[in-house]
Amino acid sequence: MKIIMLGAPGAGKGTQAKRIADKYSIPHISTGDIFRANIKNGTELGKKAKTYMDQGLLVPDELVVDLVVDRFKEADCANGYVLDGFPRTIPQAEALDTALTAIGESVDYAVNVEVPDSNIVARMSGRRACLNCGATYHLEHIPTKVEGICDVCGSEIVLREDDKPETVLNRLKVYHDQTQPLIDYYTKKGILKEVDGTKDMAEVFDAIIAILEK
Ligand code: ADP
Ligand code: AMP
Repeated sequence: MKIIMLGAPGAGKGTQAKRIADKYSIPHISTGDIFRANIKNGTELGKKAKTYMDQGLLVPDELVVDLVVDRFKEADCANGYVLDGFPRTIPQAEALDTALTAIGESVDYAVNVEVPDSNIVARMSGRRACLNCGATYHLEHIPTKVEGICDVCGSEIVLREDDKPETVLNRLKVYHDQTQPLIDYYTKKGILKEVDGTKDMAEVFDAIIAILEK
């Protein structure tokens, strides 16, 4: 099963993608997590990506596409994967289609997690991320067991630089300009599925599973 998660930054793509990946034992591929790991490790890619990410801008397509195409050719992707944060532009979606077509495959579902802009800033300012293992929490909705400490790996959790309100507004604009057109793109392909992301996490998850198992 090959699934794309669509939605505004903070809509809950990553939260749901992790659960889907666990349920179906398929990898969760988050381009944001890959970039953050590169930044943490001080790689050339990380240095380049950081300049865009800190401003709430998209990393250029040419730095993203090969990364993902190489990743989904790895052995653990044989039964599918959940893509989270990719594609984010029409050229990325076209590149993904081209790469999949070349190996006789295609995306099964593009799940759009719909959350209005008015909810997003609160979601993002409450988000806390573990930059060590990628786990995500929310101060009110999904708190850690011990304040400030990741439940999974025990590292400190932080407010991401790009989750500060001034950057979030920029990210929302970028989302509407460059990523939202993908909703039309996947609607035309007949694989777009919508879920109401304002519901609580478990309800959103149930709605997604109902779609995948229909
Ligand atoms: P995205 O991957 O789309 O950027 P996340 O999955 O990281 O978004 O979710 C953004 C924030 O909102 C996180 O702090 C997360 O814990 C919280 N969150 C996710 N889903 C819900 C939900 N259904 N209700 C309330 N908060 C949520
Ligand atoms: P995310 O963790 O998905 O919210 O992504 C964080 C940031 O990483 C984004 O705001 C972008 O700067 C960058 N990024 C992640 N995925 C992509 C992508 N597919 N294309 C371009 N930039 C990306």
